[in-house]
Amino acid sequence: MTGIVTISPSREKPILNRHPWVFSGAIQDVQDAAPGTIVDVVTHKGEFLARGYWNPKSQIQVRILTWQDEPIDDVWWQRQLKQAIESRAAYHHPTEPRGYRLINAENDYIPGLVVDRYGDYLVLQALTLYIDQQKQQIALQLTHICQQLNMPIKGIYERSDVDVRKKEGLGLTTGVLWGEEPPELVEVISGDKVRLIDIRHGHKTGYYLDQQHNQNMLPRFLATYGLNDGHTRILNLFSYTGGFGLATQGHVTNVDASRPALELAEATYQRNQWPEERVDFIQADIFDFLRDQAENGEQYDVVILDPPKFAHHKRQIDAAARGYKDLNMYALRAVRQCGFLLTFSCSGAISPDLFQKIVFGALVDSRRQAQIIRHLEPSPDHPVALTFPEGAYLKGLLLRVF
Ligand code: SAH
Repeated sequence: MTGIVTISPSREKPILNRHPWVFSGAIQDVQDAAPGTIVDVVTHKGEFLARGYWNPKSQIQVRILTWQDEPIDDVWWQRQLKQAIESRAAYHHPTEPRGYRLINAENDYIPGLVVDRYGDYLVLQALTLYIDQQKQQIALQLTHICQQLNMPIKGIYERSDVDVRKKEGLGLTTGVLWGEEPPELVEVISGDKVRLIDIRHGHKTGYYLDQQHNQNMLPRFLATYGLNDGHTRILNLFSYTGGFGLATQGHVTNVDASRPALELAEATYQRNQWPEERVDFIQADIFDFLRDQAENGEQYDVVILDPPKFAHHKRQIDAAARGYKDLNMYALRAVRQCGFLLTFSCSGAISPDLFQKIVFGALVDSRRQAQIIRHLEPSPDHPVALTFPEGAYLKGLLLRVF
């Protein structure tokens, strides 16, 4: 029997507008529902609104899968998965291994499911109870679809070691879901470079794929300004495995707090035959590092500032804003006259508008001037559903600094 979730009369609007989340406060009544199963979402008069899955442990009690009165069966899954995967056809290369996101959860109308591809391997994240229960079935469907689309895969690895699962009453888990265990490092081609991905231990599913597009547009952009030789000084802050720097042709200083990230960065630069004298890997806390740079008056042609998420929810916005402002102030000071700053925030709770205001505040404090050259977005394989503004977590500014 399908459970029934009745919505309070004044709370129907977002659902009618196809927002996929139903919060506990919007629910009037729940009948015959079991955690992690499909429910019908209805008005107080009993009229059908949508169908989704229920978890009473989560603040987001229902995540909507469809607004049609249709069964959530194999046919539904096949259609949804295929639509998402086919829409990334441009990323597929018949012979070269590529890395990109195949399924971007709510933004691809499959709440709670993330699937990334690294060459012959898929990496799956199950973020909710229902998806967790369905994951074997989903893995099987994925193998069929990949076969049909002529992109056979060797294995599907699960990286459900993300804290948001705790909100669903789930623990953290990783391991092979289907097929072969991925090798220690998987190689993917991105732009004219090889990137090494550690599927099992790397951050997220192994790489910050959302930044791939921004990384790869950088060399062409910098070339326009003649910043495309070994004399161009690039400061890559929060470098992770060095992705932004690797895309340029400059002298790159990668800074990150994580030793394993920097080790993988070093291996990646070596794999690309990057001249040793044109790259540094510095393990440091960026706040300390930037204060030192400011004291020494060190400046760079290009600074990239891509910090981790500072605001995990709305209550943290003020503290996060102070952190971003501080960092941006120092980062602006580290840019030479007429140089560039790429500055990002991946906090969903910080809107693009607020982010721009924070950077403005930092600019005032830094006593510099800056122009917005571009607003930066996540890679196109990380689309944001127009009905789901929460999906727009990554925002950035490309600034010219004076
Ligand atoms: N720019 C990277 C992604 C950055 S993710 C890319 O394009 O791939 C954020 C990184 O910040 C992580 O690698 C994490 O190890 C690092 N980090 C987090 N806090 C830090 C701190 N206080 N100082 C230095 N690095 C930090």
